[in-house]
Amino acid sequence: MSTVIENLQTVTDEIEKAKARREVAKDEEVILVAVTKNHGVDVMREAIDAGVKNIGENRIQEATEKFSVLDREVTKHLIGHLQTNKVKPAVKMFDLIHSADSERLIEAIDKAAGAIEKVQDILIQVNLAEEETKSGVHEENLQSLIEKTDASKNIRLRGLMLIAPNYSDVEKCRPLFRQMREIFDRIRRTRQNFDFLSMGMTHDYKIAVEEGANIVRVGTAIFGQRNYSQ
Ligand SMILES: *Cc1c(COP(=O)(O)O)cnc(C)c1O
Repeated sequence: MSTVIENLQTVTDEIEKAKARREVAKDEEVILVAVTKNHGVDVMREAIDAGVKNIGENRIQEATEKFSVLDREVTKHLIGHLQTNKVKPAVKMFDLIHSADSERLIEAIDKAAGAIEKVQDILIQVNLAEEETKSGVHEENLQSLIEKTDASKNIRLRGLMLIAPNYSDVEKCRPLFRQMREIFDRIRRTRQNFDFLSMGMTHDYKIAVEEGANIVRVGTAIFGQRNYSQ
């Protein structure tokens, strides 16, 4: 079995190769968010000691437990669905929330950030494939959500996030990633601080980078299969 250090090297190399192949966003860096959900804080430490600068978690309870004992500096990303009743600890803990997808949630984030005098960086999660089971805003409602963030003085909208459907033929994700980058570029021309397009996970991050992702969220390819029975 390969180690976390070896896997990290492989993923970093693949990101660089995918970057070299792409025709959009050629001069943009790609940020690797290492997703440590369902792994212990020891795995978090190992990743950070191997050079990881960005950690992704998807559940507030689990993230609170691990970050409270983590004796390392790292940028913290909330990548999972956020419930309104968990917004307070989320705002306290995370540098970037990837999963804002409703007016109610944005209002709650604004309020919680205001209460601790923070300006919370967020991404809006878009459900481009319009999958019924997925969170994220449909494209036709994106503009009104953007306006909602503009009216929220304790929120800074930094970009967009996409979770592609888990197609067995991963190439089927490509048109979605491409369309997402086009939407991102169109919005970006009219705004400031709108820098991040978060898309791509273990099975599709190479294609996502080729199509212009500048944040990828990778767990399994670095840390191996998650054990959900723990
Ligand atoms: C778990 C998760 C990831 C990482 O998934 P892998 O397939 O393990 O790379 C990325 N994004 C989100 C939103 C996740 O929940």
